[in-house]
Amino acid sequence: MPSKKVMFTIISSFIILVIIGFFVFFPAQLDKQTNRLHDSTLPAISEQARTLHRDLLIGDWHSDSLLWKRDLMDNHDYGHVDIPRLQQGNVALQMFTTVTKSPDGINYETNSSDASDNITKLALVNLWPTNTWSSLAERALFQGSKALELTDKFPQQVSLITSKTALSEFLLQRKANPQLLGMLLGTEGSHALDGDLSNIQRLYDSGFRMMSLQHFFDNKLGGSLHGESGEGLTEFGREAVQQMQFLGIMLDVSHSSEQVVKDVLIMSSQPVLVSHTGFYGHCPSPRNISDDLMQQIAANGGLIAVGYWDAAVCESNVNEIAKAIQYGITLVGSEHVALGSDYDGATSVPFDTSELIYLTQALLDLGVTEQQIKQVMGGNMLQYLQLHLPD
Ligand SMILES: [Zn+2]
Repeated sequence: MPSKKVMFTIISSFIILVIIGFFVFFPAQLDKQTNRLHDSTLPAISEQARTLHRDLLIGDWHSDSLLWKRDLMDNHDYGHVDIPRLQQGNVALQMFTTVTKSPDGINYETNSSDASDNITKLALVNLWPTNTWSSLAERALFQGSKALELTDKFPQQVSLITSKTALSEFLLQRKANPQLLGMLLGTEGSHALDGDLSNIQRLYDSGFRMMSLQHFFDNKLGGSLHGESGEGLTEFGREAVQQMQFLGIMLDVSHSSEQVVKDVLIMSSQPVLVSHTGFYGHCPSPRNISDDLMQQIAANGGLIAVGYWDAAVCESNVNEIAKAIQYGITLVGSEHVALGSDYDGATSVPFDTSELIYLTQALLDLGVTEQQIKQVMGGNMLQYLQLHLPD
């Protein structure tokens, strides 16, 4: 019979091992379960699609990959995005969006801003720095710092794009090194300001160049499309919009209430983005704002980026995603449609970023022209950045 002391040592070692195991294995498990790929029919790839896809400059406006505990330099068999898979998919430009608060029981109809927050739990489980536990701005900055670390350590593979000059240099470098990825940083919802306008400058100084105003709940700037009030921009929201545009931060109205979108369109000195969405006329879902508003966004010079998950396109398969894009081209013109996957945004999608050639093929199969495919797959994003990034 082992002594009490030995028994105590065995039991406490076991408990410590279980706790360590939890923090080592659970984050990847959670990532796997949350960011899924589902089976669906994929088209056969033609020679035409292969040649066209190789020559495309591809860009995507929305991926939440920095939220997860995943080394983006490694190739994974789960989740949707990492650097090797972006290279395989021939992606040149990727906007990485940072998520800072997500209500428990999240849905597309109505969410309370007081609901318990899942990102706090994620911060604890993924052992984020303690200053992220209570500050949403620190959560955005922490996720952004992961991108900055990659661009520091692996300059041959990733480059942070924060200005028109950086973009031109990136394009020159990429001619010699086609594997190079241009990374951009954005926030999902301006509750990331922690209610303090000076955090706009802080985020800007850390490389952030796109900010959305709301996420799933109403915040200090105004109403969410999935919130309770349906309200427009508040006075604080107006000041925030002005300051973002003064600095050269691109505005994203995804998840904003229709009234917020209308208010922004009236006051904005710049075109706006919808970084991940579907079109209501193609998919009448509470996730999508009206076609009429989409036309106003386009008429104002904006870009509308189509996502790949069910609430955006109704049926999440490559043919239906291509149909949503084709619908958008007819509604607002091919120069206003782009890609906004919402990869790694707790979505289930039919192909990951390494398999984007299936989308090129599906668009060709629908009769979308090569010129229109070039615009939608990334040409429009490049042009938008060339016009709207700061000098
Ligand atoms: Zn989103």
